[in-house]
Amino acid sequence: MPGRASAPHIVIVGAGPAGSSAATFLAQQGARVTLLERGHFPRDKTCGDGCTPRTLWMLERLGLGTLASTDGTPVDSVYAVSPGGVVWDAAIPARLFGGRASIIPREVLDERLVRRAVQAGATLREGVRVVGLEREGDVPRLRCLGGESLLADVVLGCDGSPSVIRGALGAPGFPAHECAFAIRVYYENVRLSHPRGLGFFWDETLLPAYGWIFPLPGGRANVGLGMRADQLAASGARLPELLERFCASPRVAAELAGGRRVGRPKGHHLPFGSSARHTTFNQALLLGDAAGFVNPLTGEGIEFALESGAFAAEAVAEAVHAGDLSARGLGGYARRWRTRFRTAFRLNRRLMWAFERPRLLDRVFRTACRDERTRDELIDVLSGEATRLSWRFIASVALGR
Ligand SMILES: Cc1cc2nc3c(=O)[nH]c(=O)nc-3n(C[C@H](O)[C@H](O)[C@H](O)COP(=O)(O)OP(=O)(O)OC[C@H]3O[C@@H](n4cnc5c(N)ncnc54)[C@H](O)[C@@H]3O)c2cc1C
Repeated sequence: MPGRASAPHIVIVGAGPAGSSAATFLAQQGARVTLLERGHFPRDKTCGDGCTPRTLWMLERLGLGTLASTDGTPVDSVYAVSPGGVVWDAAIPARLFGGRASIIPREVLDERLVRRAVQAGATLREGVRVVGLEREGDVPRLRCLGGESLLADVVLGCDGSPSVIRGALGAPGFPAHECAFAIRVYYENVRLSHPRGLGFFWDETLLPAYGWIFPLPGGRANVGLGMRADQLAASGARLPELLERFCASPRVAAELAGGRRVGRPKGHHLPFGSSARHTTFNQALLLGDAAGFVNPLTGEGIEFALESGAFAAEAVAEAVHAGDLSARGLGGYARRWRTRFRTAFRLNRRLMWAFERPRLLDRVFRTACRDERTRDELIDVLSGEATRLSWRFIASVALGR
């Protein structure tokens, strides 16, 4: 990219993982970057705080490799409980970015990420809420609460879900069967059975919802539950009630025994990556949750937010080099994320069907108990890395071997 003063001005809306990642990579390339954030850091974000192996790899690329152990609970295994009570647990295979994951509170993670972007040269403006995007010719102009407006050569919509920028660019919202609601609450003083494990629970009485328990530093835990939006509406249940039932279920209550709840449960909306389509516009891109980059099966989205930041930075550099900031010139962005994310999103969306069937899930988990390769494949699925299921996996489950 040209020298910073004459470089195109990239304005990023939202300083979550997607925005801070894009800002860091762009600033490192010499771009002029302004990061607009409605909140003030450190700020919380409703999340399970689970950082997959690929998330840790992205943190390393961003120069934050030590965060997983200094500010999070290092995790090296996964355990899962089926509706019929079949439990399997396994180490995360080393081939998945060294087999390490971590639970890092978002209050800490997001603050470190945004400081990294500033250190790389991005200008952070906190307390600025963008309320609209208009065009002067093709050039985007952002409108902020309070009347300020800003011209940008390229706008990156990293404002999560629901996204003001997504709406302003004319991209459709996500239908109820292509998004979920999830809720989480913190506990302290817990003595978990797997203090270095990611715990996933499919409780027969709560299906098609699924729950998690993730260990946090200092004897704390992030406990939560998610369900597809259309199924939640059809059930007539409320997410906070489902969370209470989850916490009171025998296995979860045993994990949390002696622990104390901290703060109120908080929920939020999650779009599914399987319906991500509209991401590239003239002089604008959508990243992270604003684009819909979330694993439909588990609700994990931090890794996709971080990686979409890297893809956006590469695509903007190509477009600047070619002197073409149109949707066509920025087309490298969609090519990159489609190659990397789309097959995994679609597989996991299809697998939701299987994860809602209690007897099938019992059978899959029973096979996983016996067979290491089945467990490995399940870990690939749960960590968003699987792009297909092997015939061996399908045959093992079908034949009960
Ligand atoms: C209950 C729950 C549990 C989850 N658990 C996990 C998990 O364990 N692991 C995982 O990987 N993912 C998890 N996710 C998903 C994860 O939280 C998201 O995928 C991730 O935060 C997406 O990052 P992002 O940067 O795209 O958006 P966000 O993190 O939502 O960041 C958006 C930023 O934009 C700012 N903003 C919004 N609107 C404006 C505006 N108009 N003007 C200026 N700024 C604005 C916001 O303040 C925020 O800082 C969970 C989600 C939920 C709801």
